[in-house]
Amino acid sequence: MQVKGIARDTLDFILEASRSMAPEEFAGLLQEKDGIITEVLILPGTESSDTSAVLRLYMMPNMKAAGSVHSHPGHNRSPSEADLHLFSKTGNCHIIVGKPYSRQSWTCYDRKGKIRDLPVLDIEFEEDEEI
Ligand SMILES: [Zn+2]
Repeated sequence: MQVKGIARDTLDFILEASRSMAPEEFAGLLQEKDGIITEVLILPGTESSDTSAVLRLYMMPNMKAAGSVHSHPGHNRSPSEADLHLFSKTGNCHIIVGKPYSRQSWTCYDRKGKIRDLPVLDIEFEEDEEI
């Protein structure tokens, strides 16, 4: 399934989580539905340092996901060596969030570490719909 974009609510959640975790890294796996990323599977665990969030992602038993997301403690959003390794393992959509964790301070990469476009979509979540 080709990823077409990410739901705005999901992106806002990622930014909020990154902000509250800083200066520690926030990390999770992206789950898509019908080609749209609507869910983040957050990694359990408390200890965190510059690279451990990514390494913990690595060790997840089931790596099937649309991609990954993690935050960097500074402004630099370039993927590290460990990041690139992770990118190649699962999905084709990898978000890195940097300071100040705003809607402008994130970048999406493909599995090779090249910057890719990820449209932010305003979608209604099914749970919110009235029956
Ligand atoms: Zn990183």
